[in-house]
Amino acid sequence: MGAKNFLGKYIVTAEIEVKTGLHIGTSKEDLEIGGLDNPVIKDPKGRPYIPGSSLKGKMRVLSEFYHGKVSGDGSVHKCSDPNCPVCGLFGTSVDNNSNNTFARTRLIVRDAYLDEKSLEPLSDFLETKWTELKHENTINRVTSKANPRQQERVPAGAIFNAEFVVDIYEGDEDKFLKYLLQAMKLLEDDYLGGSGSRGYGKIEFKNIRVVKREKDYYLGNGKEEEVGKYSTLNEALKNK
Ligand SMILES: [Zn+2]
Repeated sequence: MGAKNFLGKYIVTAEIEVKTGLHIGTSKEDLEIGGLDNPVIKDPKGRPYIPGSSLKGKMRVLSEFYHGKVSGDGSVHKCSDPNCPVCGLFGTSVDNNSNNTFARTRLIVRDAYLDEKSLEPLSDFLETKWTELKHENTINRVTSKANPRQQERVPAGAIFNAEFVVDIYEGDEDKFLKYLLQAMKLLEDDYLGGSGSRGYGKIEFKNIRVVKREKDYYLGNGKEEEVGKYSTLNEALKNK
């Protein structure tokens, strides 16, 4: 199959509000000497952020389950159906052994940076400038000895600014935009980062704005169309 015509892009911006402490960890190599036990990932200015890869990875997994695309061996789903709600949005790695040329990723997820103002009301309660330290214990089953450890978390109330870009190709209409909003909704009822089954990482999308930029926009005509503005995802999904 040949490549389809490119028609434009949807730009979706939203606030991510942290509802329960969020821990997106970093690799051990990044540990500073004398630093925290389990630090969260931070930008070069020391502020926690949400990597686009974390958002995209989690939304992909949830979408695979939702659309019944999880394979028996648990590997990443990939297929050559150009309308696949998972591969069409999140992409597939190009398979050199097939002649499938339309393994295109429509979705880009940007890193989501902290809105510093959102933490101002909490500053008196935080252990570090932008984060809280949660103390947890695991109990040794034989000796009953507690093994205390610390987790750094982004506190409930923090807001991050997220941006998603969805490419539009001939025949797509707003299908893949809808799949994106759906994946965002699935994420709200799941969790981001670590320890989700123990209460961490609940988030909510707010103030969602969808803008459409057609092909001419990229020739400098500057005309974009606001397709929708919603205070919640439910509202956005109802109107799509
Ligand atoms: Zn697929």
